[in-house]
Amino acid sequence: MAIEKLLIANRGEIALRIHRACHEMGIKTVAVHSTADADAMHVRLADEAICIGPPAAKDSYLNVAAIISAAEISGADAIHPGYGFLSENAKFAEIVEAHGIAFVGPKPEHIRTMGDKIEAKRTAGALGLPLVPGSDGAISDLEEAKAIAEKAGYPVIIKAASGGGGRGMKVCTSPDDLETLMQQAGSEAKAAFGDATVYLEKYLGNPRHIEIQVFGDGNGNAIHLGERDCSLQRRHQKVLEEAPSPILSHADRDRIGGICAKAMADMGYRGAGTIEFLWEDGEFYFIEMNTRLQVEHPVTEMITGVDLVREQIRIAEGKPLSVAQEDLRFTGHAIECRINAEDPRTFAPSPGTVTRYHVPGGMHVRVDSGLYQGYKVPPYYDSMIGKLIVYGRTREGCIMRLKRALQEYVIEGMKTTIPLHQALLEDPEFLNGDYSIKWLEEWLARDGQG
Ligand code: ADP
Repeated sequence: MAIEKLLIANRGEIALRIHRACHEMGIKTVAVHSTADADAMHVRLADEAICIGPPAAKDSYLNVAAIISAAEISGADAIHPGYGFLSENAKFAEIVEAHGIAFVGPKPEHIRTMGDKIEAKRTAGALGLPLVPGSDGAISDLEEAKAIAEKAGYPVIIKAASGGGGRGMKVCTSPDDLETLMQQAGSEAKAAFGDATVYLEKYLGNPRHIEIQVFGDGNGNAIHLGERDCSLQRRHQKVLEEAPSPILSHADRDRIGGICAKAMADMGYRGAGTIEFLWEDGEFYFIEMNTRLQVEHPVTEMITGVDLVREQIRIAEGKPLSVAQEDLRFTGHAIECRINAEDPRTFAPSPGTVTRYHVPGGMHVRVDSGLYQGYKVPPYYDSMIGKLIVYGRTREGCIMRLKRALQEYVIEGMKTTIPLHQALLEDPEFLNGDYSIKWLEEWLARDGQG
């Protein structure tokens, strides 16, 4: 099937990103938007635009009935959910397909499996992915929990099966605290996610976050597109991502990438996915799989030359993967800075009107953002207003170019995290690639930074 008109069920930079891929493929676009986003850049550029509700996401970008109606009215033959919002909602994917509309994403059953952390871990284990040692599933019995913790070794972490966004986790350092912490984790999970199910795994002291980009055609063929290092996080939110990881060798990449690609092939996975691992002392430990496009996908595009959104759309059309594993080359280095409308010290949100705007340019500089002069950043959504992605033949060259590009980037009318990125790029440990998932928060807490 050839997609002729695609509805973008998202907003902001990712909606624009999807629109661009569509227009390069000769596909018409339909933007759906809340009343707060009527002036958004992707709404202006789309071939058609339909307002689907008031500002609150639950009434607009999460409003399944309104989105399906918009697709029906406009005659769209595909829906791309972007990331966040409905992108990992298996029910939504089912409804889209039940209406005879192509869902640009995985099969609904795979979204469902990977959305439940215990199911995901069990599936990942069965597919041969390396796991964090711990319980084999949900855990409620204290004696059993003690035995598992003893075997894995303290500290251990108690995690909510339905958890997300880094919430519902408790680190336990001694068997004496296990009972209390299990109860606390269970009731917090119940309150936050409506599900008290918890499981237990070894707590890794100082890991890196390394994720593998995968693609499947849904018919048993799959490839990997290397890794992204997303260890620079604040409150479990990624701040800056790079590809390749400063610490991974070619052999390591081929090994873990091969394992991931085979797992996806065996599963019959369709579309783009990201398999997230913690990495410590040379070992990978699966933590979760995201069944969608990631915010940080452009760093992979920079080092492989593959347009991941185009690839997603091709697969939704039932076409084969456009590139074979043996033809993929990982060349050079790419870094993405997430630019948020936030105070760079306190991280307080700072939405406002863009009074002056100038984007950096030049060789190997990419800005994915819906900002323009006069645009009013609405206060209702995520604070990320843009992404600056830079490529260089080496990591050093990439960092030099990134510093230059950050210096050129002018966004006035609100506070942004550009100064935070500028300070980070001066730090000797960052320059050495010497950081774990704890590093950024420690760096922020140090004198003069936080
Ligand atoms: P969520 O879906 O809530 O993001 P994840 O399982 O992806 O949950 O974990 C979020 C973060 O919590 C990880 O990036 C890591 O920082 C930390 N974490 C999770 N599991 C462990 C573990 N076993 N050891 C150490 N840190 C962990």
